[in-house]
Amino acid sequence: MQSILIGGTDLRVIERQVGGRPVRVALRGAWPFDDAAFADALARVIAAGNAWMGADATSYFVPMIPLTGAETGAISSGGTGRTGGFALASTSNVDFDDIVRLLAHEYGHRWFGGSLGPTADPGAPEYWFTEGFGDFAAARTLVGGGLWTEADYAAHLNQVLLRYHSSSARTAPNAALAERFWDDPAAMQMPYDRGHLFALALDRAEPGSVRAALLLMAREPEIFAAEETQAARFIRAYGAGPGRFDAMLAGEPIVLPADLFAACGTLEWAEQPIYATGYTTAQDADGRYFASVEETSPAWAAGLRPGMRYIRRVSFGPGDATVPFVMRVRDADGERVLQWLPEGPTRVRFQRLVLADFTDAAARDACRAQMGGQSAGR
Ligand SMILES: [Zn+2]
Repeated sequence: MQSILIGGTDLRVIERQVGGRPVRVALRGAWPFDDAAFADALARVIAAGNAWMGADATSYFVPMIPLTGAETGAISSGGTGRTGGFALASTSNVDFDDIVRLLAHEYGHRWFGGSLGPTADPGAPEYWFTEGFGDFAAARTLVGGGLWTEADYAAHLNQVLLRYHSSSARTAPNAALAERFWDDPAAMQMPYDRGHLFALALDRAEPGSVRAALLLMAREPEIFAAEETQAARFIRAYGAGPGRFDAMLAGEPIVLPADLFAACGTLEWAEQPIYATGYTTAQDADGRYFASVEETSPAWAAGLRPGMRYIRRVSFGPGDATVPFVMRVRDADGERVLQWLPEGPTRVRFQRLVLADFTDAAARDACRAQMGGQSAGR
């Protein structure tokens, strides 16, 4: 259970040193990035993570397993934690920025769901901490470690905010999310985004407080009861009383203060149509086809019809109705490319970080420091 076996005629193993310890990656298949760039990114992620958590260097092994699906436009990536490493699997069309974010999230499991204490069993009721606070820490680490610029961070945060405000699971209590975790993709994503945004709001009230509580948990495990779970430890280590967490756990919407990143820009409210592709697909012996198309949808207006064959999703913006959906299809008339805006019938109101125009390098550095959690930035 704690191993990974990878092999093949095209296997490459690359090693880097981080704090005097070997960090190895293993890759198969063709990727849009260099093997060396992947190994370098992992080494930097590990160094930044160790610095953020005040942890010793340790040996690490990360295999990268190629998934099929990119040929039809499917995008998928994920990781599985193992002792002394984690296994990644991804389609080859995932942006390198997303791969770097995934590396930081997965390395964070050295602590979150790892060494910070026992985890709940089953774990889903505490994913707001082990996954959501893990996402918060990963983003801080990436900016603090220089792997993300302020624009990278803002783009990522805006993706989280749009997904959060668009989600059908946004106001579901934590216990209901845990119950639906494996059946409902919205319920599965929500603990990550809710925990991440809640951590930002919590840290905003007292800058550096979230990291301070995490460091206390890492450095002084003896002050906690042996069986006390990580999430319970955090609530106690944070010291604000469990009441501070109740509204979040009950599903009360999280609104970030407009000046959360005052050194960077403003969190503004925006509104746009909800994301909806307008179709469903099914599979038969010849592959994938469109099973139904909403007649009032932009997809229908663009010419998409039930029965057409699904050749390839050329491009789209996941969850974002303002990015054109470009689809290659085939019917009796042959193959062609259809394009539409994936606008659903309702609208979503969401927050987004709009970066200021920086006048000089010092202003930009102050923003990055604030995003990385180093200081209030002013
Ligand atoms: Zn995770």
